[in-house]
Amino acid sequence: MDLHAGTGGIAALRTRVLREAAVVVLVTAAFTAASAYGDWPEMITGPADDVVLVLAFSHLLMMVFGKRRSDELKAEVASRRAAEQELRHRVRHDELTGLLNRSGLIDEAAAAVAASAAGGPPTAAILIDLDRFKEVNDTLGHHVGDMLLRSVAGRLTEELRDDAVLARPGGDEFVVLLPGCGPEEAEQVAGRVLRALRRPFAVDGLLLEVDGSCGLAVDGSDVAELFRHADVAMYAAKADHLGIAVYRPSLDAEAPEHLTLFGDLRRAIREGELVVHYQPRVALAGGRVLGVEALVRWQHPVHGLVPPAQFVPLAEQTGLVQPLTEAVLDQALAACRRWHDQGLRLTVSVNLSARSLLDVGLPDRVAELLARHELPADRLELEITESAAMKDPVRALDVLHRLRDLGLELSVDDYGTGHASLAYLSRLPVSTLKIDRSFVQTMELDASDRTIVRSTIDLAHSLGLRVVAEGVETRATWDELAVLGCDAAQGYWLARPLPEAELLGCVAELRHRLAAPRPV
Ligand code: C2E
Ligand code: CA
Ligand code: CA
Repeated sequence: MDLHAGTGGIAALRTRVLREAAVVVLVTAAFTAASAYGDWPEMITGPADDVVLVLAFSHLLMMVFGKRRSDELKAEVASRRAAEQELRHRVRHDELTGLLNRSGLIDEAAAAVAASAAGGPPTAAILIDLDRFKEVNDTLGHHVGDMLLRSVAGRLTEELRDDAVLARPGGDEFVVLLPGCGPEEAEQVAGRVLRALRRPFAVDGLLLEVDGSCGLAVDGSDVAELFRHADVAMYAAKADHLGIAVYRPSLDAEAPEHLTLFGDLRRAIREGELVVHYQPRVALAGGRVLGVEALVRWQHPVHGLVPPAQFVPLAEQTGLVQPLTEAVLDQALAACRRWHDQGLRLTVSVNLSARSLLDVGLPDRVAELLARHELPADRLELEITESAAMKDPVRALDVLHRLRDLGLELSVDDYGTGHASLAYLSRLPVSTLKIDRSFVQTMELDASDRTIVRSTIDLAHSLGLRVVAEGVETRATWDELAVLGCDAAQGYWLARPLPEAELLGCVAELRHRLAAPRPV
């Protein structure tokens, strides 16, 4: 789909309209000039004299041109609308099966739950996990796995009533959403779904047998709770080989840790259990602390300090990433303001999830937060990953440009782990590239990683980007990066991520350590 066709079309249209206007002007001028030499044509007399004739002719021309152009404009508008619809469809649908994807499902669930909460009947969700799919995929290959998933999607669609919503949020998981459906009817649907799954599937000349586990939950108040309950029930169904399990609170105790953590996450964000630690980023030339990266942790009442890898992905899956990002931004900007008041000019970098780049409201909320903390925009940097920008490039680019227009810095995180080319990334409105720590940590020992780091630095510089190396764990790596002309570094050798209270001391220690002559 050529998304730029619309703009090109409008520019071409403008040229044609101008050209036609010029024709009308020229013809009218020619007629007017000709009429100065006599009454032409002579046979027309009386009130319909040559001026009237000239006007009538030029109007006729304008009508013909106008009609043509208005048809073109209509076609242009229709093709733009179709392109937009296609984009909207892609954002909400799974490419493989054509069903709703996770994002589409969350939207539908939010609408259904809002209707239930407004006094309507409850909403039921059935989470279906295929039991032997991995075996099929591993032994017969992805190609057969993909065909099987498509067949499952087709068969489930046949089993469901028209107003049921079927989605494939990922992998071998399917979700059926039943708006306005009570527990008994939902259980009947789950039974039908399971029986349908147990009939063999004819795929690629083979008869494949799969089975499923269904977790069922009915809730009318909260999307995240509805899915969490279905998840807990599905886990119980799987663990006890039940086929179907209906959520009840006593199942919570048996759920694996990550589910319990997830259940708490919404409350944790609301009640301020998220804490932010800060890791300094230091200039290789001169050793000045330029800024800090804000890294979130969860101070959990039972599990202690939980690292982000255990809860950020869950937040992403369940629509909690927006409040999470805002909580981190708010704390990070508040800290930045306090450092500013103490005379320390530091930038703070906050990580954005892939989902945040699709959140068109984000730039306005970032602007509000900057204003609330009375900070200039250039104190904030947002880190995005290359894959995030590539997921939905059109929407992501719009959000990125609007963020950039606020005056803040954007950087590409974990560079080297995705598939985007540096040339592509340099077209994004970013100013900094962070080389992933997997290359930096090993560059001392591994010549090919050293080459990757060196060529990335050179290429990034030639594209006008600054380079930050992550994961600097030794003095030798620091020295090497300085030789290679890298701009800044971050890593355990400099400092681990620290609570805000320890940062000032750390900055002083770094100043002392990096200024001191190197012991021989
Ligand atoms: P990241 O953005 O790549 O953050 C850097 C991670 O590398 C941090 O892990 C940091 O503690 C670790 N690190 C820093 N220096 C070194 C080093 O020298 N050696 C080694 N081995 N590791 C080092 P952390 O804090 O566990 O964060 C992990 C990831 O969680 C982050 O990776 C980021 O992707 C995500 N994350 C953290 N905070 C947030 C947040 O507020 N929002 C979002 N969306 N993601 C976050
Ligand atoms: Ca980062
Ligand atoms: Ca990183």
